[in-house]
Amino acid sequence: MRALERKDCCQEAQYTQVRETNSETERKVKKLWEIWPARNRFMWDGRWICGPADDLGAQLIVLALFVFGGGVYITFLIKHFLEGGLIFMPIITIILFFLSIVAYLIVHVTDPGIVPRKNFLLDDQLIKRKGVNLSYLTDPNYELPVHIADTIDPEEGINTSPSKHGHRDYCSTCQIYRPPRTSHCSRCDNCIEVLDHHCPFVGNCIGKRNYKYFIAFVMLASALAFMLIVQLICVAAEDTPANETSKSDSSEDSGSNGNGQLILIIFGIACMIVGILLACFICFHFWLINKGKTTREYLKKKFVDEAWGKEQFDKWTEFTPSYVDYTQEIPKRSWYYQRIL
Ligand SMILES: [Zn+2]
Ligand SMILES: [Zn+2]
Repeated sequence: MRALERKDCCQEAQYTQVRETNSETERKVKKLWEIWPARNRFMWDGRWICGPADDLGAQLIVLALFVFGGGVYITFLIKHFLEGGLIFMPIITIILFFLSIVAYLIVHVTDPGIVPRKNFLLDDQLIKRKGVNLSYLTDPNYELPVHIADTIDPEEGINTSPSKHGHRDYCSTCQIYRPPRTSHCSRCDNCIEVLDHHCPFVGNCIGKRNYKYFIAFVMLASALAFMLIVQLICVAAEDTPANETSKSDSSEDSGSNGNGQLILIIFGIACMIVGILLACFICFHFWLINKGKTTREYLKKKFVDEAWGKEQFDKWTEFTPSYVDYTQEIPKRSWYYQRIL
């Protein structure tokens, strides 16, 4: 009996030791996303990266629009088309609705093209994107290729290269010499390759890696808004005063119809505003794509030479790998860990 108790005690002590060893290991190793020195939020153990928490208010507006739109459509609109035989209208609307949400989520969680900081770049073990000459980012004496260094703006006649006045574009926060067309996003606190703008409504920067998904989202959302407007017009034409008289005229029905009509009017106004804004926005971006410029470059009147990556706007299907694998483990004793804390 005593022997058995002793055995149990020994096993319990062993388990405790294993648990302590595991927790000690946990303390000694962290995932990169847990110690990333910027304002990003991460999900799914570092696989998804978003902008800062400040954006949540703007994202709630988008969420409210989706929920309100979906609720009104299912409650008041869809039955008109299911009963009327125009079933293709709800099918297209529902497909657009779900594709918009999917595109929104992809833009929201995709790395927009974050260029890592100096301490990260100096640790060879951490760089994921192989085959890219990263010495450009940290070496002040790195010689730029001639076609990048000596570009003359044909309209202005001045040198508008990244080596402005003999000095390359340097980010004092990230301590790197930025690649062409890279800017520091003050909201996320990262340098982003081909930064278009920071969008609080999608909760992320719009840059080299998620620009095409952003354009897809705006196109789908504006198509959805106009699809809803078309259906509202159909329902309004169906509910003309002449048609109304043929329907039931009980006081309860007319009261609920009045509330329903008020909600549909508010919904219609919201769809018109969102649809027109998104249509203007997408036209502006198509114009920018044609020019090969980002919003930021347009506003700052920056000249963009094709050698700096203008052609990337044509490569819609090309996937640019991220510089950083945020899921990788960083031992506390590592060179990088010691320098960022
Ligand atoms: Zn920076
Ligand atoms: Zn940002």
